[in-house]
Amino acid sequence: MELILASNNAKKLKELSALLAPLSIELISQGTLGIPEAEEPHPSFVENALAKARHAALLSGKAALADDSGLCVDALGGAPGVHSARYAQTAAQAVERDMPRETQREHQDAANNARLLSALAAYPLPAQRSARFVCALVAVRHATDPEPLIAFGRWEGRILDQLQGQGGFGYDPLMFIPTLGHTAAELPAEIKNAHSHRALAVAQLLSLMRTVWSL
Ligand code: IMP
Repeated sequence: MELILASNNAKKLKELSALLAPLSIELISQGTLGIPEAEEPHPSFVENALAKARHAALLSGKAALADDSGLCVDALGGAPGVHSARYAQTAAQAVERDMPRETQREHQDAANNARLLSALAAYPLPAQRSARFVCALVAVRHATDPEPLIAFGRWEGRILDQLQGQGGFGYDPLMFIPTLGHTAAELPAEIKNAHSHRALAVAQLLSLMRTVWSL
């Protein structure tokens, strides 16, 4: 079956396409159909993913899949949460608009990590710094599907007081995973991809698609 991915991120399309191939799902980016990005105004990952999936299904007339992910820190009431990508509103962002996208992302990641460290300065003890990466994946058969498939992945960790590791992206250098003894940025990509919040959510989604959608 064809499934419209509610994202224009080429990396996401490639990664999810490979994971969904065993179910004979052909994933098509909404951008190739001229569908613009949906608003993400909601306070939870699942609400935003659902809104994006319904938007893509409405404008394509086809089944759609959306994801939303981020970091939740317990001491901060779950922040940065759905605002993870733009936690630090860097003043330099406007200036950086002409920079290559990858450079902008690196600047944004560095600013986000700096803001997180300063927000947690009042919580120095390891036990006060528990956090998790969260991923919500939502699939709908049509825009008003009353029974969306909703899959979650949670990857537990703790925020360090300094960056550690060069790999990954986003908050990976601050996120220490106790069960693996490293930060997410120190893990080889294949290890991160086997344990991450995204991996867990995809596994759950595949199982839901097999049982509920009979794929
Ligand atoms: P998105 O849902 O892919 O747009 O991710 C939202 C934001 O959450 C990213 O920009 C990162 O800041 C953060 N994030 C999501 N997944 C990860 C991860 O695996 N490592 C580090 N940061 C992540």
